[in-house]
Amino acid sequence: MITGPGLLFVVSGPSGAGKDTLVAALRGRRPSLRYSVSATTREPRPEEQAGEHYFFVSRQEFGRLRDGGGLLESREYNGNLYGTPRDYIERSLTEGYDVIMKPEVNGALAIRAAFPDAVLIFVVPDRFSNLRERLLARRTETNEEIARRLEIATREMKFIRQFDYIVVNEQDRLEQAVRDLEAILQAERFRIHRYPDDSIRRVESS
Ligand code: ADP
Ligand code: 5GP
Repeated sequence: MITGPGLLFVVSGPSGAGKDTLVAALRGRRPSLRYSVSATTREPRPEEQAGEHYFFVSRQEFGRLRDGGGLLESREYNGNLYGTPRDYIERSLTEGYDVIMKPEVNGALAIRAAFPDAVLIFVVPDRFSNLRERLLARRTETNEEIARRLEIATREMKFIRQFDYIVVNEQDRLEQAVRDLEAILQAERFRIHRYPDDSIRRVESS
């Protein structure tokens, strides 16, 4: 009975909230969930693989991609460009796969403009000060970069009301946050308006 296009889940929130960690854990539990890999002009971190974490491109390549209509949205964040490739998401949804992605907050709202049915999830820590501790523990940015990310985070928190769901990723309780995120995916699947009309008619007349 359950047929039709896949669902688009957009996980956003301030840097250090735990988006990467949560999405990675979720993908481990749901292998059929597709992850939209973004393009970026940022330098890869030591553990990052091209094509898996990001498509790492030059500013020139990024510009070509964007100007050719290849990106659904793009943003400058902390001096680097980030953007969502269009084809992969459109193709995956049409084929019936659910897709998850994790853009920054403005990107999330731009995705909703392109896909009004997208489910927007805002991830926060239990205390704002945890962001700094987590970013320090991650050891991927300099102190200046962390300070800039926290400044951006303060602005991003003001967009929370435009999202559909909030997930509180409490300190050292990652497992609970993964369960909460999974519950959202599960519940969205059962919303009546997600079902094609002929499926509902079959249920009505059975
Ligand atoms: P984001 O993708 O939102 O920037 P990350 O997933 O990279 O955040 O997490 C930032 C850091 O915080 C990482 O080092 C990660 O291991 C750690 N972290 C994530 N969730 C928790 C949690 N619930 N408690 C403590 N540390 C966490
Ligand atoms: P990071 O450098 O930590 O990987 O990412 C910096 C910020 O850019 C994060 O908030 C991340 O969610 C966001 N980001 C990653 N990919 C995209 C994208 O395709 N579009 C937008 N708008 N933001 C992105």
